Amino acid sequence: MTEQRVFKPDPIINGTAAEEFVPVEGHTLYVKKDSPGKYLSTALRERMRRENKRFWAGDNISDYITESDQEQLIREATEAFEDVLDALLIDRENDPNSKGTARRLAKMYFNEIMAGRYESPPDATAFPNDSDERYEGMLVVRSELKSMCSHHHQPVSGVAYIGILAAQKLIGLSKYTRIAQWCARRGTLQEELCNDIAREIMKATDSENVAVYLEAEHGCCTNRGIMAHSSLTQTTVLKGAFNTDKGTKKEFFDNILLQSRNGK
Ligand SMILES: [Zn+2]
Repeated sequence: MTEQRVFKPDPIINGTAAEEFVPVEGHTLYVKKDSPGKYLSTALRERMRRENKRFWAGDNISDYITESDQEQLIREATEAFEDVLDALLIDRENDPNSKGTARRLAKMYFNEIMAGRYESPPDATAFPNDSDERYEGMLVVRSELKSMCSHHHQPVSGVAYIGILAAQKLIGLSKYTRIAQWCARRGTLQEELCNDIAREIMKATDSENVAVYLEAEHGCCTNRGIMAHSSLTQTTVLKGAFNTDKGTKKEFFDNILLQSRNGK
């Protein structure tokens, strides 16, 4: 028995007796013996609760999950999706199109549509912007985004325009889009997504002057509910000079207009 495997009862989760807890296969985490199944997801949720880590649909929880955990979590989600298909009275044993759907769904959530919850932030190496002829103007990057609404798990697809006033640090152009996509690949609200992108870009560039304009179409409005076919939702977050300086704000929106006029 290695040091790590020695069980220390957690007084917050539950009382005292070690035998009430069982190890989760292949992990150093323990769950209560009679908690619903010996699931790694149960143990991870308990740990996040204990450490006051928020795990909403739009939160990144990569610090709590290893790559090998992900395989186990996909297995657990597959089981749960099988139950959902059963409850929907879909014959997943005989319907050839529904065989394997539970696992496809589980993999899709973890590896694609919610990947931004489980992956660590994209590596955005910064370059110093300190030469005599350094760029001091505005940069506006257009990023296409796919996301998913937390309410209905319907696709959200849109475009973000990220504006920034060059500061001491510059990051590669593709990094803006990578960061925005990492924020988008979660269950989100558009307002939150707009804030998340602005915050992460500020973090990666150390710039106080960041703006994000986001326009998106929501599957929950086009595919169900009001079935509006061309509804567009727009959100804007303006930080620093974009918020306080009228000229900077105007230049940002003029740039967006120029980009859309060019058919982009
Ligand atoms: Zn929705």
